[in-house]
Amino acid sequence: MCKFFFKDCKKFDQYFLKDKNVAKKIVKNLSFQDYTTVVEIGPGLGMLTQYLLNRHNQTFLIEIDKELIFYLKNKFSISNKKIIHKNFLEWNPKELNLHKFAIIGNFPYSISSKILFHILKYNQHIIECVGMFQKEVVKRIISNKKEKNYGILSVLMQAFYDIKYLFTVTNKVFTPVPNVQSAVLILRKKKDIISCNKNLLFKCVKTAFNQRRKKLKNSLQLFNHNPNFYKIPFLNKRAEELSAKEFLQLTKEIEIKI
Ligand code: SAH
Repeated sequence: MCKFFFKDCKKFDQYFLKDKNVAKKIVKNLSFQDYTTVVEIGPGLGMLTQYLLNRHNQTFLIEIDKELIFYLKNKFSISNKKIIHKNFLEWNPKELNLHKFAIIGNFPYSISSKILFHILKYNQHIIECVGMFQKEVVKRIISNKKEKNYGILSVLMQAFYDIKYLFTVTNKVFTPVPNVQSAVLILRKKKDIISCNKNLLFKCVKTAFNQRRKKLKNSLQLFNHNPNFYKIPFLNKRAEELSAKEFLQLTKEIEIKI
């Protein structure tokens, strides 16, 4: 299948899905509620794409590998303008004038966290994401407070998205075979996000988890500009003891009191 892609599969983190049933199952999870446009990240040889194009939606493909762009343009009869040669991490939805859309992908493992942060950057536009990630990353995203894998990624993803673990995927269904397991998740944009300053939330969560064993009154000293600091709730707790919702409340308090 990837006679000539095999030479350089590692370069762009390419593990091509070869099981059609898994591909169908992933695509079937798109709900098409509140959006009609889907952006696929890293379509590769088009395993997911073929089922996406069966649905009556608008589809865009973003692929970093020029050779694959050429291959995809030949394989699928969609407008060339919708097959975009680009690094997703440098892509801005404005380029396509997109306001509400979903993301789908069998995402490159090595940049999973960066992809998630890029999704968070445009979260007001990204209504849903159905994606396959390395299982370890999925564990971090879905962990709850006090659990081993709970951290920055869990809090930030859970602050903006309702998350559901869909299924595990064995490494045998990929070419080449990766040495990690994968899992598929669905993220649905939360309807009732507590409004707060997003940059401040990110700063607060990152600072708190960088010293996760310390109580927040110590780890968050950089916000201690005035006596009101000590009136903020949760300060006697540690980062890993706060849920995403509590981090949002904490940020709101910091915003008001300081
Ligand atoms: N979706 C395909 C391929 C998955 S492999 C399948 O399921 O078979 C990951 C894909 O992501 C590859 O096609 C790779 O070239 C692409 N990719 C890697 N880094 C990327 C980036 N930064 N932006 C866009 N695509 C990327």
